[in-house]
Amino acid sequence: MLQANGLSRWYGDFRAVDDVSFSIGRGEVVGLLGHNGAGKSTIMKMLTGFIEPSLGGVLVDGIDVQQQPQPAQAKMGYLPEVPPVYPELSVLDYLTFAAQMRGLSSADDVMAAVAATSLEDKAIEPIGALSRGYKQRLGVAQAILHRPQILILDEPSNGLDPTQIHEMRQLIRRLSEHATVILSTHILQEVNALCDRVLILRGGQLVVDESLTALTEATTVTFVTDPDVDAKTTLLEHPRTVEATSVAPGHWRITVSGDVRSAVPELASAFVAARIPILSIAPQSQDLERLFESVNEHKAWEAGDAA
Ligand code: ATP
Repeated sequence: MLQANGLSRWYGDFRAVDDVSFSIGRGEVVGLLGHNGAGKSTIMKMLTGFIEPSLGGVLVDGIDVQQQPQPAQAKMGYLPEVPPVYPELSVLDYLTFAAQMRGLSSADDVMAAVAATSLEDKAIEPIGALSRGYKQRLGVAQAILHRPQILILDEPSNGLDPTQIHEMRQLIRRLSEHATVILSTHILQEVNALCDRVLILRGGQLVVDESLTALTEATTVTFVTDPDVDAKTTLLEHPRTVEATSVAPGHWRITVSGDVRSAVPELASAFVAARIPILSIAPQSQDLERLFESVNEHKAWEAGDAA
């Protein structure tokens, strides 16, 4: 559905995006994560044809965004990080104007976007009088006017309060039933709640491209036993154990080979046979927050190392 091939972008001498490639399938909901300045907005602007890549290109449903911007943009809706504002226009007037800019003449398109974003009550209010949450919804409404197959949302929850964040999440979930969605965010729970897949950027480079399921899949087992019992030999001799670390008296973290779900009963049987009491044994999943931290710690270490 959407393919980014070797995207790079310089601003003067500064390389903001460095050789980023990924491919997104129809119906996927993908979260783009990264610290401030990691290059998220720059990538979104290149995906939507708002700026040119210095190197590389983007294909939308096989259409080259740089060579055929109009048909490519007809397939995409874009909520920029700072949506254009016309404070004196009413919601309806602005959406009618945005629809005309897209070559849409039917009032039905405007009303459908108003309904999809639950803006009916604010339809005749001036944009300047709307709360931040309603302004963001209006930004989404202009992005979906032409019923795009791909929605690109740059920090849709930026500046919203917890209730508005919840409402925005519900809106994105509804929209994702009919469209492929790429959203950037600083809220890791948002990725957990909405996305199938996560792309993590660091210093303009793509450092993680992984499905949420694979990311949160267990890689280690935690095992708790009586601290007075010697479990080490049994653990280290077990064929499924790659590494076993004692993290506290009687508490072990075990890295296993192969599928963790089959390793747990195998390890449990070995402990029972060796008469080692099992207080608990459980797969330990990796969470997104820890992954995000470790990706960025690595950067800090590299910077320190280089200094
Ligand atoms: P944020 O989370 O703060 O929005 P981001 O991940 O979206 O950050 P970008 O806005 O893509 O990051 O910016 C990437 C880098 O490029 C930053 O260092 C930024 O200062 C720089 N940059 C972005 N736009 C320009 C520009 N027009 N001119 C010069 N530098 C720019």
